[in-house]
Amino acid sequence: MRYFDYYDENGKHSSSLNSLPKLCSFCNTSTAFEIRYCRYNTDKHIFNFFLECAECNRFSIYTCSHLFEPIDFIPHKVCFTPASESIAKLSPSFAEIYKQSQLAENSNLLEICGMGYRKALEFLIKDYLIKNSESKDKVLNETLNQSIQRIASEQIKTVAERVAWLGNDQTHYIKKHTDKDLSDLKLFLDTVIKYIELELNYLAAKQIEKK
Ligand SMILES: [Zn+2]
Repeated sequence: MRYFDYYDENGKHSSSLNSLPKLCSFCNTSTAFEIRYCRYNTDKHIFNFFLECAECNRFSIYTCSHLFEPIDFIPHKVCFTPASESIAKLSPSFAEIYKQSQLAENSNLLEICGMGYRKALEFLIKDYLIKNSESKDKVLNETLNQSIQRIASEQIKTVAERVAWLGNDQTHYIKKHTDKDLSDLKLFLDTVIKYIELELNYLAAKQIEKK
């Protein structure tokens, strides 16, 4: 039980609550937040707590109902899954765009994250081709579809082509594949990533000489 003082237009009062958020969005540590200030809004029946992290001393704002049911906790913690080391080495730009697209998606920016995934695919495919000794000038100056057609692996080419189609649906006014959505785009983009990862792992393994 945490006892705290809060203020409303009538002045200072005391109350208690059972729990507060525990994870600081700034330093990502589990912390016992200090309640530095609490304001009760009598119109909306909500508490706003100004909480200081005991680890990093940054402030978060926790909003809950008069029954202490959580409403919001800002800044929001936004998670993403980083690209693997081998993929990030192949295409650092892909890794960054992929990360930003996930952050957008996990922040509910669902109208723009699909475009981000489509852009991530473009960087991944072009860097993959350049690594596979295709002419950098040609690859960088042609369309994504032209680049995809250069891919030797039938599997990567086929799946990447579909990702590009679904990615275009996320970008253009008219959607052509009406039975497919963002989750299909992500599934197939992840498939392309895995195929490329497998190839990179295969090449790394092949370089090991028998001793
Ligand atoms: Zn902190």
